[in-house]
Amino acid sequence: MGLRVEQVTKSFGETLALEDVSFEVSHGEIVAVLGPSGCGKSTLLAVIAGLEIPDSGIVYWNGETLQGVAPHLRGFGLMFQDYALFPHMNVFDNVAFGLRMAKMSGQAIKTRLEEVLDLVGLRGFEERDVNTLSGGEQQRVALARSLAPRPKMLMLDEPLGSLDRTLRERLLLELGEILRRVDQTAIYVTHDQEEAFAVADRVVIMNEGKVVQTGTPQAVYAQPASIFVARFLGLENLLPGTARPEGGRTTIETDLGAFSVSGQFEGDVTVLIRPNSARLDEKGKLKFEARLLEHSFRGTICRAVFEVNGTRLTFEFLSDVDLPEQGHTTVLSFDPSTAIQVLQ
Ligand code: ATP
Repeated sequence: MGLRVEQVTKSFGETLALEDVSFEVSHGEIVAVLGPSGCGKSTLLAVIAGLEIPDSGIVYWNGETLQGVAPHLRGFGLMFQDYALFPHMNVFDNVAFGLRMAKMSGQAIKTRLEEVLDLVGLRGFEERDVNTLSGGEQQRVALARSLAPRPKMLMLDEPLGSLDRTLRERLLLELGEILRRVDQTAIYVTHDQEEAFAVADRVVIMNEGKVVQTGTPQAVYAQPASIFVARFLGLENLLPGTARPEGGRTTIETDLGAFSVSGQFEGDVTVLIRPNSARLDEKGKLKFEARLLEHSFRGTICRAVFEVNGTRLTFEFLSDVDLPEQGHTTVLSFDPSTAIQVLQ
């Protein structure tokens, strides 16, 4: 039980913003809706919130339809990128706003405020003017404000989008931890796969108004369902190939050579080579010459771009490996059974 979105379609004039969108969010689960700009993420949230009426399809909460239920009666919370704290109110009044609107008593508001300000690490900030807070602190006030009325589900739309990278990474971990501590059911909308992977139990990947893949971050990264998903997740090593079924397996011809994979494929395919699959020696089953174009240090790993038969392939290695000099050619190898995935 929890949220169920069933076959929701919504268009604006000629634009089909959502097409047959279905997915579920269980109680206490954090689901990230991930996709490029314009894929329909905000429209989806608006439909769930009741701010937009779908052309067809139904949104359910705990098995009951929300059709005809006004936004303020759905019990969902929203937190946006431009979280718009009330500038003329202090922290207490900002966070208490929704509770006062709900006509909660003064004492109950005080108790709830202590709880949520504790939760976001802002106890003692009650009287502070919100204009004097740092970006991260303002964000935590916004989070406290949206959690204060105990929403059945919280929807966060690019909540960290306006912050710089370092702050974003820190707040992201904090945010995930806070949501989990209160077992908050949540939908987290973002176009950033790292953000989605860091915070979510499951991701729903969208493209052009449609859900193109759903699963845990580990599962979708391990098995992207299409070329679009692979590219979107930063898996760029895509090679054209020709597949021929052969005795229960498939032989695939590519510019890197021919190799056999499990499964049945036929005709033109795209082969994904996983970035962490290459070895800087000849011990893998498939060997090929590669010229190092560039490399960059990323902390524990380094990323190296090679040219192989006119194709650019990017591989990641532990930082302590000995890469060839830039412009030099070396032999790389990998084992197709673990390195390769066939996309159609
Ligand atoms: P972004 O990440 O850039 O916010 P998004 O994934 O949230 O994008 P939406 O804002 O849901 O995408 O928009 C989906 C499509 O619907 C876009 O083509 C957009 O132009 C269109 N659209 C959204 N709202 C309206 C509207 N009120 N009127 C007309 N077209 C709209």
